[in-house]
Amino acid sequence: MPSLKKLIAGNWKMNGSLESNAALIQSILDGDLRADACEVAICVPSVYLHQIQSLTEGKGLYLGAQDVSAHEKGAYTGEVSVSMLKEFGASFVIVGHSERRQFHHESDQLVAIKAERALASGLTPIVCVGETMQERESGATEVIVKRQLAAVIHLVGHCVTEIVVAYEPVWAIGTGLTATPDQAQSVHAVLRAQLKAAAGEGGEKIRILYGGSMNASNAKSLLSQPDIDGGLIGGAALKAADFLSIIASA
Ligand code: PEP
Repeated sequence: MPSLKKLIAGNWKMNGSLESNAALIQSILDGDLRADACEVAICVPSVYLHQIQSLTEGKGLYLGAQDVSAHEKGAYTGEVSVSMLKEFGASFVIVGHSERRQFHHESDQLVAIKAERALASGLTPIVCVGETMQERESGATEVIVKRQLAAVIHLVGHCVTEIVVAYEPVWAIGTGLTATPDQAQSVHAVLRAQLKAAAGEGGEKIRILYGGSMNASNAKSLLSQPDIDGGLIGGAALKAADFLSIIASA
């Protein structure tokens, strides 16, 4: 497999304030972002993009958002468009996070439309897929993640090589439970095969991140798996020392 730079992406979720953001960003920038080995992104609440953009400009930290509207513009109260995110420096946008699927009832189809909308404007979607504990226990993990990814592949066609995929078992998000490196790798291998079936050898170059309670102590063993090309990190991205230590493992 060609060596890809790992992508370490923080997902701040609905956390932060002007003051705490400034302190967190300063501590991250004071550390080593390992630009030789990885790309580092932080996906922040959209209202803070402008602040973080001005604090990080030219400093090797990519910016991302946590969701985007499926619509281009117009009468969609409360929504934020792809072009707005781009104007404020976003390079990435998370789509289909399990919290959006669960609490906002986002369907595979809607997630796919968001991914397509992002790609059309040059924003890289980080497409999240993952099974619940109940689905895992009933042996449905593979079916679920393949169905979620298939909706995106179906809509974006050959542009699939431009997406990032994040395997995030729902039972591991924010719970302190982590997939073992073997459990994660076996799902990543399924996703890799699906991406290769859609994009040929180009599927090798699509980054598949693992997310779900990744932290300073388990990052190295997860990130050393052959099909784990980075991490999507929630809780540990809010502490500079932990985030930097995950970056150091990449
Ligand atoms: C996430 O929200 O994408 C995530 C992986 O969260 P945590 O690392 O806190 O489990």
